[in-house]
Amino acid sequence: MRKLRFAAALLPEGVVEDVTIGIGGDGLIGTIAAGQGDDGAEREAGLALPGIPNLHSHAHQRAMAGLAERSGNSADSFWTWRQTMYRFLERMGPEEFQAVAAQLYLEMLQAGYTSLAEFHYLHRDPAGAPYGDPAEMSRRIFAAARETGIALTHLPVLYAASGFGGAPLGPGQKRFAMDAEGALALLAALEPECDRLRRLGLAPHSLRAAPPEQLAAALNGLKPGQPVHIHIAEQVKEVEDCLAWSGKRPVEWLLDTHRIDARWCLVHATHLSENERARLAASGAVAGLCPTTEANLGDGFFAAADYLAQGGVFGIGSDSHISVSPVEELRWLEYGERLRRQGRALLAGGPDRSTGRALLDGALTGGARALAQPVGRLARGSRADLIVLDTEHPLLAGRRGEALIDSWIFAGNRNPVRHVMVGGDWVIRDGHHEAEERIGARFRQAMRRLTE
Ligand SMILES: [Zn+2]
Repeated sequence: MRKLRFAAALLPEGVVEDVTIGIGGDGLIGTIAAGQGDDGAEREAGLALPGIPNLHSHAHQRAMAGLAERSGNSADSFWTWRQTMYRFLERMGPEEFQAVAAQLYLEMLQAGYTSLAEFHYLHRDPAGAPYGDPAEMSRRIFAAARETGIALTHLPVLYAASGFGGAPLGPGQKRFAMDAEGALALLAALEPECDRLRRLGLAPHSLRAAPPEQLAAALNGLKPGQPVHIHIAEQVKEVEDCLAWSGKRPVEWLLDTHRIDARWCLVHATHLSENERARLAASGAVAGLCPTTEANLGDGFFAAADYLAQGGVFGIGSDSHISVSPVEELRWLEYGERLRRQGRALLAGGPDRSTGRALLDGALTGGARALAQPVGRLARGSRADLIVLDTEHPLLAGRRGEALIDSWIFAGNRNPVRHVMVGGDWVIRDGHHEAEERIGARFRQAMRRLTE
């Protein structure tokens, strides 16, 4: 067993100094010992933290981050942003897609994300025809994950309608078309891509895009343990349309219609009634929060303090990749509440507690659940997905214990993530990935083709 001795590590009981972690050949943590010293161990300065799962990604959107910031007409909104994305997609083929995804996954690793859930709906070619291999674009996601070493829960999207009531897909949506039968066939075709770091689940895009009979058929065909993610209640208009269609709000409809449990991740869930919030919190499902994207798109605030007080579980995602930083997602989750409620340390979970630690612990627990992967804890039996913060970085100098985490989350605009390990293998050392120049050059070429 390989042994690593860290100056400090965040264990389930808190930040502990002088921790030796033993990692088996299977990439799982086999032993943890504190304060005992081990001369045979590799020594690592700095603070080891569990690597952070990123529970919501649309890789292709990384290519257009920052390109939808010009003011439009007075009705500029989420819906006009979506039109910009559709135009961009007309040029993106498999090569460009993999180039963008690999660059993104590299950036995620450098920022401290060690695993992600890819909510993948770019199934068809730009004309809307299936690729010769219908799994072509999904395979590019797996390839990008393997190139970079990041762990993946790949979620092919069910996308069969353009609105409540089964309205047909619009011209900009032809690339996304996927019914329940197709989605289950795609999952079966992708089984050989899975390994100890990479798994499968399903993502019904939204209640707009997944009509009830399609949703039920897809869920019936899933294997036990495969997670289910869905966009829900992101925008007020979606809530209004769902009420007009069914007489119920989206989360209410879902909770009344399906058995929603820890297998589910409800992405955004921004606009909830008090009753929906309490029921969601009690369900064990994960609220998939993406604060920087939700801010960028003008979605609204998630009532995080109320939800956490009810025992709700959350994780974070970078979604549109307007920001690829767990620090910024966690910070804005807290800042949204501070600005709304005019208070401080609102998500710390009680008096005299570290807000950064509470936010990080929440994102680790919920993220691991949403990805259905054995990560998020430095503990026996968990996979060795971890990051090491440089405690000599000016940002962290003179800090100890949870103050290191608070300083990282609230002041960490320069990145102190020094090393990153996934499944027992170092993928980032001293901030660098061994393939970063090749991946970066290919990305720049792809971006020229996409934007010229
Ligand atoms: Zn999304």
